[in-house]
Amino acid sequence: MRRPPTLKTTEIFASVQGEGLRQGEPTIFVRLSGCNRRCGFCDTKKAWRGGRETPVDKIVEEVLRLRLDSPAEWVCLTGGEPLAQDVRPLIRRLHEEGLKVQVETNGTFPPEPEADWLTVSPKPPDYDVHPGFPKRAREVKLVVCRALTLDAVRTMRTTFPPATPIILQPQSNAPWSRKKALKVLEDAGRSGLTGIRLSVQLHKVYGLR
Ligand code: SF4
Repeated sequence: MRRPPTLKTTEIFASVQGEGLRQGEPTIFVRLSGCNRRCGFCDTKKAWRGGRETPVDKIVEEVLRLRLDSPAEWVCLTGGEPLAQDVRPLIRRLHEEGLKVQVETNGTFPPEPEADWLTVSPKPPDYDVHPGFPKRAREVKLVVCRALTLDAVRTMRTTFPPATPIILQPQSNAPWSRKKALKVLEDAGRSGLTGIRLSVQLHKVYGLR
């Protein structure tokens, strides 16, 4: 008999999407475990290893329980790196429940075509992106870390179509990073790059998870 699908999960919680174009929308987060990168600035290192092998039905059950107290219409699969696991059975089940699904990925695995919204956040030093993403990503999020350069922003601008925004997200909302983000935005403008914008992590401003 075929075993029901499972996913390794770190946590499931209701909050507000604090990043990117969906910023401000109530959202239930499913944080999946495991990541193929080891970014020094990672603020979810707890998701790098371990995690609980959880049946997809149980994940959906928990999402629906959280939804009793949340107006969320969206579920965000995040990590770690969510696309390191097969998330399609979970996306299908969430769709059956009438929910929309965002996937936040570092972009190194093939994109999941059944997701309603793909947020790709390529990481230094190589900013590698699977070739399937430029056509599918709704937004590109770049963490304004010490390693981010104007050249990396330029490479992302030429990799993704002009209509796909590139969002500069300060690392942990730190003052040095916000200052750098503004400088990168100005330098990008002077270099003729378009579709670059500033952001902050809204959930941290509001003291949410
Ligand atoms: S890709 Fe994301 S989750 Fe993985 S180490 Fe980097 S910041 Fe952390």
